[in-house]
Amino acid sequence: MWVRVWFDDGGKPHQRAYTLVDPDAAAGTFGLEFALHDGVASRWARDCAVGDTVEATLQGTGFEAPDPLPGRLLVVGDTASLPAINSLLDAFPGLPATVWFETQHASDDALPFRVDPERHDLRRVPREKGGAALVDRVKAELPALADPASYVWIACDTSTTRALGGYARKELGLPKERVHALGYWRDS
Ligand SMILES: Cc1cc2nc3c(=O)[nH]c(=O)nc-3n(C[C@H](O)[C@H](O)[C@H](O)COP(=O)(O)OP(=O)(O)OC[C@H]3O[C@@H](n4cnc5c(N)ncnc54)[C@H](O)[C@@H]3O)c2cc1C
Repeated sequence: MWVRVWFDDGGKPHQRAYTLVDPDAAAGTFGLEFALHDGVASRWARDCAVGDTVEATLQGTGFEAPDPLPGRLLVVGDTASLPAINSLLDAFPGLPATVWFETQHASDDALPFRVDPERHDLRRVPREKGGAALVDRVKAELPALADPASYVWIACDTSTTRALGGYARKELGLPKERVHALGYWRDS
């Protein structure tokens, strides 16, 4: 589940998408986790103080549980999609998963991954050549794990996501309803 948050920049509102972390409808609370870089949302997250408010539009969730469930989740993401990856793993507590996770900083190793080493195989891939290293790694390793019942979930920068979504559908021949691919940020 995600929200469009409106951040002010020189008097103009700019929308940025963020994932709800642990929404608790009864308590009326949720968290947001920001991958920090240079940008209006990141600057707000760095500088905000207790009591600050911000406008947001609830987008809900475009996610539908794969039916039938796959034997293993195949997940590709990065720091921006970590909250969504954690939510996905939480939603299917019994399912094994392989997660290719693109890192950009040494500190990315200390992020709050909700992985259970018994069931989840976390494969860290340092970002190189604008995402090309991740594309190569996933293309090298995905075929051995994929079958027609697979479910592949991809959320990285837009060009990496497009490359891997196209690969899973066209070259691996997975049905489009078994491949969820959504670009989370634009590299510039
Ligand atoms: C459905 C959805 C859910 C999302 N959930 C989250 C979330 O929970 N947490 C989260 O951190 N992000 C999340 N994102 C991604 C987030 O919306 C983008 O990263 C957004 O661009 C951040 O805005 P900004 O103002 O900080 O940077 P921008 O003004 O958009 O960009 C400024 C500069 O930073 C670069 N940049 C932007 N994002 C990243 C990044 N992630 N890594 C490295 N460089 C970057 C840009 O290329 C540009 O050079 C989500 C995106 C989608 C579509």
